[in-house]
Amino acid sequence: QAKHAGRNTFRFYQEAFTRSADARLSLESRLRRALEGDGFEMYYQPFVDVASGRIVGAEALVRLKPDGGPYIGPAEFIPLLEESGLIFELGTWVQRRVCRQGREWLDQGLDFERLAVNLSAEEVRRGGVVERLRDILAETGFPAAKLEIEITESGLIHRGAEALAFLHELKGLGVQLAIDDFGTGYSSLAYLKRFPVSKLKIDRSFISDLPDDHSDAQLTTTIIELARNLGLQVLAEGVETDAQRAFLAERGCDVYQGYLCSPPVAAAQFAERFLGASCQHWPARD
Ligand code: C2E
Ligand code: MG
Ligand code: MG
Ligand code: MG
Repeated sequence: QAKHAGRNTFRFYQEAFTRSADARLSLESRLRRALEGDGFEMYYQPFVDVASGRIVGAEALVRLKPDGGPYIGPAEFIPLLEESGLIFELGTWVQRRVCRQGREWLDQGLDFERLAVNLSAEEVRRGGVVERLRDILAETGFPAAKLEIEITESGLIHRGAEALAFLHELKGLGVQLAIDDFGTGYSSLAYLKRFPVSKLKIDRSFISDLPDDHSDAQLTTTIIELARNLGLQVLAEGVETDAQRAFLAERGCDVYQGYLCSPPVAAAQFAERFLGASCQHWPARD
């Protein structure tokens, strides 16, 4: 099972880097330098309440600081960090950075419901995630209830009982759990019922052709209903048009994130533009 996930990671990695072994080596040393120095930064993408437009929080997404090299996004470098075992180190930095930032905003009177961080299945596999997060929460004074941990379904369901125990331990810290990229993994309704998660994030691939694509419209509607029936919050990823937002509003989707409101932005910009604010929506024109 772990082997299977490993193979997927490897395939992804291979696709991204078959260009040349040189490119891989130079990216790997760039990533090592970034970890040792101050080479990463967090961007924040607003979570928008579908019905009201109110910003309720953000997903924190890691970026390599520009260093003269080409732009390389996390979809490319996370698999490499997973492969080389450096992902745990990055995860530690990300969680500490986000909790410190969140604490700062709260101290400045800038409130929000939650900040979300991504947790790699590879970090979970390595172990020590719960202890680390407990330490970081204590050290930063960030309220656990305002922290959301995003985990992809494929990272969990292969692991059965072990995954369930892990999620309960994590949940025991008082954080919120969300399933990321929902619909793309090996969905099983049985585990959804048992996992102590409070949110489903519908993968962008289901959203991008809304509202015209009939099967995507059906699937999205079904996922929203499923979430509601299970008492879970549901968020749509990658909302780019007002027609998509209107479709989701009509179906009762709770929250969205996407370029319609904003791409991920630097921390200062996020605080200035979005904390305590709303994303305006205009009635769709015909
Ligand atoms: P994700 O967690 O599913 O994050 C959502 C991705 O969708 C982000 O890409 C975001 O910029 C992008 N996105 C959001 N709205 C739109 C939209 O309207 N249109 C389009 N085309 N894209 C949109 P990003 O930041 O490049 O991150 C890619 C993936 O890398 C993330 O997917 C996540 O799996 C991983 N990742 C990012 N940051 C971290 C991190 O700090 N730790 C870990 N372990 N993984 C991370
Ligand atoms: Mg995510
Ligand atoms: Mg996602
Ligand atoms: Mg994704």
